[in-house]
Amino acid sequence: MPPDAATDADAHCEAAVASLRSFSLPPTPQNYAIWFEYHAGRNDKLRRALTVALTNRRSIDGYMMAELHDLFFADTVDRRAAREAHATLREAAGRILEAGVDAERYGETLSEAAVSIDADTTGLADMIARLAEETTALSTRSAELGQALRSSGDRIAELEKKLAAAHDAALTDALTALPNRRAFDSMVREQAGLAMNSGESLSLLMLDIDHFKQVNDAWGHTVGDAVLRLVAATLDQHRPQTARVVRYGGEEFAMLLPATPLHEAAGHAERLRGALAARRISLRANAAPIGNVTVSVGAARYEPAEPIGAWIERADAALYRAKREGRNRVVVEEGVTTA
Ligand code: GH3
Ligand code: MG
Ligand code: MG
Repeated sequence: MPPDAATDADAHCEAAVASLRSFSLPPTPQNYAIWFEYHAGRNDKLRRALTVALTNRRSIDGYMMAELHDLFFADTVDRRAAREAHATLREAAGRILEAGVDAERYGETLSEAAVSIDADTTGLADMIARLAEETTALSTRSAELGQALRSSGDRIAELEKKLAAAHDAALTDALTALPNRRAFDSMVREQAGLAMNSGESLSLLMLDIDHFKQVNDAWGHTVGDAVLRLVAATLDQHRPQTARVVRYGGEEFAMLLPATPLHEAAGHAERLRGALAARRISLRANAAPIGNVTVSVGAARYEPAEPIGAWIERADAALYRAKREGRNRVVVEEGVTTA
Protein backbone atom coordinates (compact mmCIF):
# COMPACT_ATOMS: atom_id res chain seq x y z
CA MET A 1 0.00 0.00 0.00
CA PRO A 2 1.50 3.43 -0.91
CA PRO A 3 2.10 5.66 2.16
CA ASP A 4 -0.69 8.10 1.19
CA ALA A 5 -3.22 5.31 0.96
CA ALA A 6 -2.25 4.17 4.45
CA THR A 7 -2.72 7.69 5.82
CA ASP A 8 -6.10 7.96 4.08
CA ALA A 9 -7.16 4.62 5.50
CA ASP A 10 -6.12 5.77 8.98
CA ALA A 11 -8.16 8.93 8.60
CA HIS A 12 -11.25 7.04 7.32
CA CYS A 13 -10.87 4.60 10.15
CA GLU A 14 -10.78 7.35 12.76
CA ALA A 15 -13.71 9.14 11.16
CA ALA A 16 -15.69 5.88 11.11
CA VAL A 17 -15.06 5.28 14.80
CA ALA A 18 -16.04 8.89 15.59
CA SER A 19 -19.31 8.46 13.64
CA LEU A 20 -20.12 5.24 15.47
CA ARG A 21 -19.63 7.07 18.78
CA SER A 22 -21.62 10.13 17.81
CA PHE A 23 -24.64 8.03 16.78
CA SER A 24 -24.20 5.64 19.74
CA LEU A 25 -23.92 2.70 17.37
CA PRO A 26 -22.24 -0.47 18.59
CA PRO A 27 -18.85 -0.98 16.88
CA THR A 28 -19.87 -4.12 15.00
CA PRO A 29 -17.97 -5.04 11.80
CA GLN A 30 -21.17 -4.27 9.86
CA ASN A 31 -21.57 -0.77 11.32
CA TYR A 32 -17.87 -0.07 11.02
CA ALA A 33 -17.83 -1.12 7.33
CA ILE A 34 -20.72 1.22 6.54
CA TRP A 35 -19.06 4.27 8.11
CA PHE A 36 -15.63 3.44 6.75
CA GLU A 37 -17.05 3.31 3.22
CA TYR A 38 -19.02 6.49 3.86
CA HIS A 39 -15.91 8.43 4.90
CA ALA A 40 -13.78 6.83 2.18
CA GLY A 41 -16.38 8.09 -0.32
CA ARG A 42 -16.00 5.13 -2.65
CA ASN A 43 -19.62 4.02 -2.66
CA ASP A 44 -21.76 6.77 -4.20
CA LYS A 45 -25.12 5.21 -3.48
CA LEU A 46 -24.30 4.52 0.15
CA ARG A 47 -22.95 8.02 0.57
CA ARG A 48 -26.10 9.51 -0.92
CA ALA A 49 -28.41 7.41 1.24
CA LEU A 50 -26.57 8.49 4.39
CA THR A 51 -26.30 12.12 3.33
CA VAL A 52 -30.07 12.25 2.74
CA ALA A 53 -30.66 10.63 6.14
CA LEU A 54 -28.32 13.06 7.87
CA THR A 55 -29.77 16.17 6.23
CA ASN A 56 -33.32 15.05 6.92
CA ARG A 57 -32.33 14.28 10.50
CA ARG A 58 -33.63 10.76 10.36
CA SER A 59 -32.76 8.45 13.21
CA ILE A 60 -29.42 6.86 12.46
CA ASP A 61 -29.86 3.65 14.41
CA GLY A 62 -29.58 -0.13 14.26
CA TYR A 63 -32.55 -0.43 11.91
CA MET A 64 -31.02 1.95 9.42
CA MET A 65 -27.62 0.24 9.67
CA ALA A 66 -29.21 -3.16 8.99
CA GLU A 67 -31.01 -1.75 5.96
CA LEU A 68 -27.92 -0.09 4.52
CA HIS A 69 -25.91 -3.22 5.05
CA ASP A 70 -28.54 -5.30 3.31
CA LEU A 71 -28.70 -2.84 0.40
CA PHE A 72 -25.02 -2.14 -0.14
CA PHE A 73 -22.96 -4.92 1.40
CA ALA A 74 -24.87 -8.14 1.86
CA ASP A 75 -24.18 -11.10 -0.33
CA THR A 76 -27.83 -11.60 -1.15
CA VAL A 77 -29.50 -14.98 -1.19
CA ASP A 78 -30.13 -14.77 -4.91
CA ARG A 79 -26.51 -13.93 -5.60
CA ARG A 80 -25.44 -16.98 -3.59
CA ALA A 81 -27.98 -19.11 -5.43
CA ALA A 82 -26.67 -17.72 -8.73
CA ARG A 83 -23.13 -18.77 -7.81
CA GLU A 84 -24.36 -22.24 -6.98
CA ALA A 85 -26.16 -22.36 -10.34
CA HIS A 86 -22.97 -21.27 -12.05
CA ALA A 87 -20.98 -24.11 -10.46
CA THR A 88 -23.60 -26.74 -11.25
CA LEU A 89 -23.93 -25.65 -14.87
CA ARG A 90 -20.18 -25.68 -15.38
CA GLU A 91 -19.93 -29.14 -13.92
CA ALA A 92 -22.79 -30.44 -16.07
CA ALA A 93 -21.27 -28.77 -19.14
CA GLY A 94 -17.91 -30.41 -18.43
CA ARG A 95 -19.49 -33.82 -18.10
CA ILE A 96 -21.40 -33.44 -21.33
CA LEU A 97 -18.38 -32.19 -23.26
CA GLU A 98 -16.39 -35.15 -21.97
CA ALA A 99 -19.10 -37.52 -23.16
CA GLY A 100 -18.69 -35.98 -26.62
CA VAL A 101 -20.37 -36.05 -29.99
CA ASP A 102 -24.18 -35.75 -29.87
CA ALA A 103 -24.23 -33.61 -26.87
CA GLU A 104 -21.37 -31.31 -27.83
CA ARG A 105 -23.47 -28.38 -28.93
CA TYR A 106 -25.69 -28.61 -25.91
CA GLY A 107 -22.67 -28.70 -23.65
CA GLU A 108 -21.50 -25.47 -25.20
CA THR A 109 -24.88 -23.87 -24.56
CA LEU A 110 -24.58 -24.88 -20.94
CA SER A 111 -21.11 -23.47 -20.50
CA GLU A 112 -22.10 -20.23 -22.21
CA ALA A 113 -25.06 -20.02 -19.85
CA ALA A 114 -22.77 -20.60 -16.90
CA VAL A 115 -20.46 -17.83 -18.01
CA SER A 116 -23.31 -15.38 -18.49
CA ILE A 117 -24.41 -15.75 -14.88
CA ASP A 118 -23.19 -12.83 -12.85
CA ALA A 119 -24.52 -10.68 -10.08
CA ASP A 120 -27.55 -9.73 -12.12
CA THR A 121 -29.97 -12.59 -11.76
CA THR A 122 -32.80 -11.12 -13.81
CA GLY A 123 -34.15 -13.75 -16.17
CA LEU A 124 -31.93 -16.35 -14.62
CA ALA A 125 -34.77 -18.43 -13.27
CA ASP A 126 -36.31 -18.65 -16.78
CA MET A 127 -33.01 -19.65 -18.31
CA ILE A 128 -32.41 -22.33 -15.70
CA ALA A 129 -35.94 -23.64 -16.28
CA ARG A 130 -35.20 -23.97 -20.00
CA LEU A 131 -31.91 -25.70 -19.37
CA ALA A 132 -33.56 -28.09 -16.92
CA GLU A 133 -36.07 -29.08 -19.60
CA GLU A 134 -33.43 -29.56 -22.25
CA THR A 135 -31.23 -31.51 -19.89
CA THR A 136 -34.03 -33.88 -18.97
CA ALA A 137 -34.93 -34.35 -22.64
CA LEU A 138 -31.34 -35.01 -23.58
CA SER A 139 -30.75 -37.42 -20.75
CA THR A 140 -33.59 -39.65 -21.94
CA ARG A 141 -32.25 -39.61 -25.52
CA SER A 142 -28.61 -40.07 -24.91
CA ALA A 143 -27.63 -43.52 -23.76
CA GLU A 144 -23.95 -42.68 -23.27
CA LEU A 145 -24.52 -40.01 -20.73
CA GLY A 146 -26.81 -42.11 -18.58
CA GLN A 147 -27.02 -41.66 -14.88
CA ALA A 148 -24.52 -38.80 -14.56
CA LEU A 149 -26.55 -36.54 -16.81
CA ARG A 150 -29.81 -37.53 -15.20
CA SER A 151 -28.54 -36.45 -11.83
CA SER A 152 -27.31 -33.16 -13.33
CA GLY A 153 -30.82 -32.68 -14.70
CA ASP A 154 -32.31 -33.26 -11.27
CA ARG A 155 -29.91 -30.83 -9.66
CA ILE A 156 -30.60 -28.17 -12.25
CA ALA A 157 -34.34 -28.61 -11.74
CA GLU A 158 -33.82 -28.26 -8.00
CA LEU A 159 -31.77 -25.12 -8.56
CA GLU A 160 -34.57 -23.70 -10.65
CA LYS A 161 -36.93 -23.88 -7.67
CA LYS A 162 -34.32 -22.60 -5.25
CA LEU A 163 -33.43 -19.67 -7.46
CA ALA A 164 -37.03 -18.64 -7.99
CA ALA A 165 -37.62 -18.74 -4.20
CA ALA A 166 -34.39 -16.87 -3.46
CA HIS A 167 -35.22 -14.27 -6.08
CA ASP A 168 -38.66 -13.64 -4.52
CA ALA A 169 -37.22 -13.49 -1.01
CA ALA A 170 -34.56 -11.00 -2.05
CA LEU A 171 -37.24 -8.66 -3.38
CA THR A 172 -39.73 -8.95 -0.51
CA ASP A 173 -39.68 -7.18 2.83
CA ALA A 174 -39.90 -9.85 5.52
CA LEU A 175 -41.87 -7.74 8.02
CA THR A 176 -44.66 -6.37 5.83
CA ALA A 177 -44.53 -8.79 2.86
CA LEU A 178 -44.52 -5.75 0.55
CA PRO A 179 -41.86 -5.51 -2.18
CA ASN A 180 -38.69 -3.97 -0.72
CA ARG A 181 -36.40 -1.18 -1.84
CA ARG A 182 -34.38 -3.49 -4.07
CA ALA A 183 -37.61 -4.40 -5.89
CA PHE A 184 -38.49 -0.70 -6.05
CA ASP A 185 -35.19 0.12 -7.76
CA SER A 186 -35.94 -2.12 -10.72
CA MET A 187 -39.67 -1.34 -10.69
CA VAL A 188 -39.05 2.38 -10.91
CA ARG A 189 -36.62 2.04 -13.81
CA GLU A 190 -39.05 -0.19 -15.67
CA GLN A 191 -42.01 2.18 -15.10
CA ALA A 192 -39.94 5.22 -16.11
CA GLY A 193 -39.03 3.45 -19.36
CA LEU A 194 -42.66 2.59 -20.04
CA ALA A 195 -43.77 6.15 -19.29
CA MET A 196 -41.17 7.56 -21.66
CA ASN A 197 -42.36 5.29 -24.45
CA SER A 198 -46.06 5.82 -23.90
CA GLY A 199 -45.84 9.53 -23.03
CA GLU A 200 -48.14 8.90 -20.05
CA SER A 201 -47.68 10.58 -16.68
CA LEU A 202 -45.95 8.67 -13.93
CA SER A 203 -46.24 9.85 -10.34
CA LEU A 204 -44.43 8.92 -7.18
CA LEU A 205 -45.54 9.24 -3.57
CA MET A 206 -43.10 9.01 -0.69
CA LEU A 207 -44.90 8.33 2.58
CA ASP A 208 -43.39 8.46 6.05
CA ILE A 209 -45.08 7.63 9.34
CA ASP A 210 -45.25 10.62 11.68
CA HIS A 211 -43.44 10.45 15.01
CA PHE A 212 -42.98 6.73 14.66
CA LYS A 213 -40.10 6.78 17.10
CA GLN A 214 -42.62 7.70 19.79
CA VAL A 215 -44.61 4.52 19.05
CA ASN A 216 -41.47 2.45 19.62
CA ASP A 217 -40.52 4.43 22.70
CA ALA A 218 -43.97 4.28 24.27
CA TRP A 219 -45.05 0.75 23.34
CA GLY A 220 -41.91 -1.15 22.42
CA HIS A 221 -40.52 -2.36 19.12
CA THR A 222 -42.87 -5.34 18.81
CA VAL A 223 -45.84 -2.99 18.78
CA GLY A 224 -43.88 -0.74 16.41
CA ASP A 225 -43.50 -3.71 14.07
CA ALA A 226 -47.22 -4.44 14.27
CA VAL A 227 -48.00 -0.80 13.43
CA LEU A 228 -45.70 -1.01 10.41
CA ARG A 229 -47.58 -4.08 9.21
CA LEU A 230 -50.90 -2.36 9.74
CA VAL A 231 -49.83 0.73 7.81
CA ALA A 232 -48.47 -1.47 5.01
CA ALA A 233 -51.76 -3.39 4.82
CA THR A 234 -53.83 -0.18 4.87
CA LEU A 235 -51.79 1.35 2.05
CA ASP A 236 -52.05 -1.85 0.06
CA GLN A 237 -55.83 -2.03 0.57
CA HIS A 238 -56.49 1.59 -0.35
CA ARG A 239 -54.06 1.95 -3.23
CA PRO A 240 -55.44 2.40 -6.75
CA GLN A 241 -55.44 -0.88 -8.65
CA THR A 242 -52.52 -0.14 -10.93
CA ALA A 243 -50.36 1.44 -8.20
CA ARG A 244 -47.40 -0.37 -6.70
CA VAL A 245 -46.56 0.11 -3.06
CA VAL A 246 -43.25 -0.85 -1.48
CA ARG A 247 -41.58 -0.57 1.89
CA TYR A 248 -38.83 1.86 1.01
CA GLY A 249 -37.12 1.37 4.36
CA GLY A 250 -37.74 1.88 8.07
CA GLU A 251 -41.13 3.57 8.46
CA GLU A 252 -41.13 4.88 4.90
CA PHE A 253 -43.15 3.63 1.98
CA ALA A 254 -43.18 4.55 -1.70
CA MET A 255 -46.01 4.32 -4.16
CA LEU A 256 -45.65 4.38 -7.92
CA LEU A 257 -48.70 5.46 -9.89
CA PRO A 258 -48.45 4.65 -13.60
CA ALA A 259 -50.60 6.62 -16.04
CA THR A 260 -51.51 9.06 -13.27
CA PRO A 261 -51.08 12.84 -13.56
CA LEU A 262 -49.73 14.55 -10.46
CA HIS A 263 -53.05 16.12 -9.40
CA GLU A 264 -54.68 12.69 -9.43
CA ALA A 265 -51.76 11.20 -7.52
CA ALA A 266 -52.16 13.95 -4.92
CA GLY A 267 -55.86 13.03 -4.66
CA HIS A 268 -54.99 9.37 -4.06
CA ALA A 269 -52.40 10.44 -1.50
CA GLU A 270 -55.00 12.49 0.33
CA ARG A 271 -57.39 9.51 0.44
CA LEU A 272 -54.64 7.22 1.76
CA ARG A 273 -53.66 9.77 4.36
CA GLY A 274 -57.30 10.13 5.44
CA ALA A 275 -57.86 6.35 5.58
CA LEU A 276 -54.89 5.96 7.92
CA ALA A 277 -55.70 8.96 10.09
CA ALA A 278 -59.26 7.67 10.56
CA ARG A 279 -58.11 4.35 12.00
CA ARG A 280 -58.14 4.07 15.76
CA ILE A 281 -55.41 1.66 16.71
CA SER A 282 -55.42 -0.28 19.94
CA LEU A 283 -53.43 -3.13 21.43
CA ARG A 284 -54.96 -6.52 20.75
CA ALA A 285 -53.95 -7.88 24.17
CA ASN A 286 -55.78 -5.39 26.40
CA ALA A 287 -57.46 -3.00 23.95
CA ALA A 288 -55.28 -0.13 25.27
CA PRO A 289 -55.57 2.68 22.72
CA ILE A 290 -52.42 3.58 20.80
CA GLY A 291 -54.30 6.37 19.12
CA ASN A 292 -53.87 7.53 15.57
CA VAL A 293 -51.03 6.79 13.28
CA THR A 294 -50.62 9.40 10.59
CA VAL A 295 -48.38 9.76 7.56
CA SER A 296 -46.84 12.68 5.72
CA VAL A 297 -46.67 12.39 1.95
CA GLY A 298 -44.55 13.97 -0.77
CA ALA A 299 -45.60 13.71 -4.41
CA ALA A 300 -43.54 14.25 -7.57
CA ARG A 301 -44.03 13.47 -11.24
CA TYR A 302 -41.47 11.89 -13.48
CA GLU A 303 -39.94 14.23 -16.03
CA PRO A 304 -39.11 12.11 -19.06
CA ALA A 305 -35.40 11.21 -19.30
CA GLU A 306 -34.46 12.74 -15.94
CA PRO A 307 -32.25 10.66 -13.63
CA ILE A 308 -34.40 8.52 -11.33
CA GLY A 309 -32.45 9.81 -8.32
CA ALA A 310 -33.45 13.40 -9.06
CA TRP A 311 -37.13 12.42 -9.19
CA ILE A 312 -36.97 10.58 -5.87
CA GLU A 313 -35.16 13.54 -4.29
CA ARG A 314 -37.99 15.87 -5.36
CA ALA A 315 -40.59 13.57 -3.81
CA ASP A 316 -38.42 13.34 -0.70
CA ALA A 317 -38.06 17.12 -0.50
CA ALA A 318 -41.86 17.48 -0.75
CA LEU A 319 -42.23 14.87 2.01
CA TYR A 320 -39.93 16.81 4.30
CA ARG A 321 -41.83 19.98 3.58
CA ALA A 322 -44.98 18.13 4.69
CA LYS A 323 -43.14 17.28 7.92
CA ARG A 324 -42.04 20.85 8.49
CA GLU A 325 -45.50 22.19 7.77
CA GLY A 326 -47.01 20.10 10.54
CA ARG A 327 -47.20 16.44 9.36
CA ASN A 328 -50.31 14.40 8.52
CA ARG A 329 -50.53 16.14 5.14
CA VAL A 330 -49.75 15.78 1.45
CA VAL A 331 -47.33 18.15 -0.26
CA VAL A 332 -46.70 18.29 -3.98
CA GLU A 333 -43.22 19.03 -5.31
CA GLU A 334 -42.07 22.61 -5.50
CA GLY A 335 -42.87 24.59 -8.62
CA VAL A 336 -45.76 22.40 -9.77
CA THR A 337 -49.40 23.29 -9.38
CA THR A 338 -51.93 20.51 -9.41
CA ALA A 339 -55.05 22.59 -9.97
P1 GH3 B 1 -40.93 12.02 11.71
O1 GH3 B 1 -42.37 12.39 11.96
O2 GH3 B 1 -40.07 13.22 11.60
O3 GH3 B 1 -40.79 11.10 10.57
O4 GH3 B 1 -40.44 11.29 13.05
P2 GH3 B 1 -40.13 9.74 13.22
O5 GH3 B 1 -40.04 9.49 14.68
O6 GH3 B 1 -41.13 8.93 12.48
O7 GH3 B 1 -38.76 9.61 12.43
P3 GH3 B 1 -37.36 9.02 12.83
O8 GH3 B 1 -36.62 8.84 11.54
O9 GH3 B 1 -36.72 9.85 13.90
O10 GH3 B 1 -37.67 7.61 13.47
C1 GH3 B 1 -38.06 6.51 12.74
C2 GH3 B 1 -37.89 5.33 13.64
O11 GH3 B 1 -38.33 4.13 12.99
C3 GH3 B 1 -36.44 5.08 14.00
C4 GH3 B 1 -36.28 3.59 13.91
O12 GH3 B 1 -35.80 3.07 15.13
C5 GH3 B 1 -37.67 3.07 13.65
N1 GH3 B 1 -37.70 1.89 12.80
C6 GH3 B 1 -37.11 1.74 11.60
N2 GH3 B 1 -37.34 0.48 11.12
C7 GH3 B 1 -38.08 -0.15 12.07
C8 GH3 B 1 -38.63 -1.48 12.16
O13 GH3 B 1 -38.48 -2.34 11.27
N3 GH3 B 1 -39.36 -1.78 13.29
C9 GH3 B 1 -39.55 -0.87 14.30
N4 GH3 B 1 -40.29 -1.25 15.36
N5 GH3 B 1 -39.02 0.38 14.24
C10 GH3 B 1 -38.32 0.74 13.13
MG1 MG C 1 -38.45 8.25 8.17
MG1 MG D 1 -41.21 9.10 10.38
